[in-house]
Amino acid sequence: MDSRDWDAVIIGSGLGGLTAGAYLATNGLRTLVLEHHYVAGGNSHVFRRKALHGQCSFEFDVGVHYVGDCGPDGLIPTVLRGVGLEDKVEFLEMDPDGFDTLVFPGLTFRVPKGWDRYRERLVATFPDEETGLHRYLDVLESVLAEQRSIRLPIGPEDLPRLAQEAPNFLRWALRPLSELFDDCGLGQKVRAVLAAECGAYASPPSRAPVALQAGLMDHYLKGAYYPQGGGQVLAAHLVDVIRSHGGEVRTRTTVERILMEQARAVGVRLATGEEFRAPVVISNADLKRTFFELVGEGHLAPETVARLKQYRMSLPIFVVYLGLDIDLRERLPNTNYWYYTSFDIEGMYQDCYAGRVPSELGLFITLGSVKDPHTSAIASKGYTSLEVMMWVPPDYRVWSIGEGPASGERYHQKKDYRSLKEQLLDTLIEGVEQAIPGIKEHIVWKEAATPITQERYTLSTGGTSYGIELATDQIGPNRPSPKTEIEGLYLAGASTLFGHGIVGSMRGGVGCASVVLGRDLMAEVEGGQVFGDPSKLTAGGPGWDPWEASR
Ligand SMILES: Cc1cc2nc3c(=O)[nH]c(=O)nc-3n(C[C@H](O)[C@H](O)[C@H](O)COP(=O)(O)OP(=O)(O)OC[C@H]3O[C@@H](n4cnc5c(N)ncnc54)[C@H](O)[C@@H]3O)c2cc1C
Repeated sequence: MDSRDWDAVIIGSGLGGLTAGAYLATNGLRTLVLEHHYVAGGNSHVFRRKALHGQCSFEFDVGVHYVGDCGPDGLIPTVLRGVGLEDKVEFLEMDPDGFDTLVFPGLTFRVPKGWDRYRERLVATFPDEETGLHRYLDVLESVLAEQRSIRLPIGPEDLPRLAQEAPNFLRWALRPLSELFDDCGLGQKVRAVLAAECGAYASPPSRAPVALQAGLMDHYLKGAYYPQGGGQVLAAHLVDVIRSHGGEVRTRTTVERILMEQARAVGVRLATGEEFRAPVVISNADLKRTFFELVGEGHLAPETVARLKQYRMSLPIFVVYLGLDIDLRERLPNTNYWYYTSFDIEGMYQDCYAGRVPSELGLFITLGSVKDPHTSAIASKGYTSLEVMMWVPPDYRVWSIGEGPASGERYHQKKDYRSLKEQLLDTLIEGVEQAIPGIKEHIVWKEAATPITQERYTLSTGGTSYGIELATDQIGPNRPSPKTEIEGLYLAGASTLFGHGIVGSMRGGVGCASVVLGRDLMAEVEGGQVFGDPSKLTAGGPGWDPWEASR
């Protein structure tokens, strides 16, 4: 076989692409993953910095800050177990009495593990809202329970059956969260507390479907975790599975075109002109770029072109990375902070949709070295690494950008771009100081990433990492499935029906490999199947560096 012929070629090494690759490689397909960036992992990759003339070092997570449901039979551990990684990745649990700390003016709420404790604490905090809160939580829990029991697929002819089997799901799942809040007669403060973690899906209550909120809370209420060794370990182990099972992962390799012959995908061409052929091509790259730039409109049905154009992308995130010369490992609880200067969360999103940076702050603050105190790469002893995030508008004009970095624009030195970036960096630092007083004077490293930075590194439309917006009209069956209308072309990643985040992307990777192989791999793994040969795996152990292993 020519070294340029493969059974499957995957564009992009995000967790969706790598998980699909690991499942295909362990099922005997020669699999090649091609990644634009210099390290694999997409949004799950980390980067490192030295400060104080090399005296200390920090590792920063791009997009693995916390994941839910990582107990022994949790979803992510199950996906990992299926390719022989059961004992390779350990998940460290965050404080079960308050894995998220929600800070509002005059009100702090710590989100505990477990639906019952969550309910008790909410009622204790908002006794006047007790009736509405019980109704709200009953609806969420029944939507989840009914969703699990529904027989799929669902068509219009199934509605009478669903009305019997899943009345709450049918009534509420796809309606906006704000309508449920109204129905339960909840006041603004309790609404803000209930929706405070909506940044995890980047949609406000008026756009987020009830099923999404129920799914998010269920994910984290099963326990919130951080992978020991930092976010890069997930990608690094999946890379190892692929490489040790006859596959390859190549970084610094940008795909420019999906090769089409007789209306089917037959391989890819790189920006360098090199070609790789395969009967299966999986795109983990941005949805719109996949079809409009890699495939080309001429190969698509007009309805597909129209639908793709209509999809709205999720809001992007502005991130500040800080290194501190103080060790907060033993001093702070193992919690994330959601810090708000107003109870009007909806208003912050509406500012973004109107192309304005929100005037009120809504921040997510997370501390890598507190979540994993023993991995010295995350922060040297005596130091702390932390990330601060805020949801912002994607519009190029807000960032004073023309064509965007994916089109080759050089933007770093643009005065207006730099000035907004620096202004926001300072604003977010002031916000962190309010949430965790006293840290400002300890900053020894600071830098920021805008949606434009995100576009440069992952080539995503609008600098998002969550794919197409998770809204009532773009959820579940209204998102693309892994199988496309083009023979031989499949999708994995945040824009698919499996959704975004670490769990959505990884579960979607299994879903994509299942469609390629024509089997339900998730059901096989849940039944105890382990694919491939775990004895071949080499990653892990003393001295192993997940970052080096992902290059
Ligand atoms: C700031 C931030 C915080 C987050 N926090 C969390 C969190 O705490 N918990 C959580 O669950 N999720 C979080 N997420 C979301 C999560 O990280 C993403 O949804 C998920 O990792 C996306 O995976 P994906 O499979 O869609 O691929 P992506 O991560 O989008 O990766 C796609 C890859 O394709 C590559 N690519 C694109 N085009 C090409 C091309 N033409 N040729 C070659 N390669 C190409 C890109 O370089 C990229 O590496 C966060 C994201 C961000 C940005």
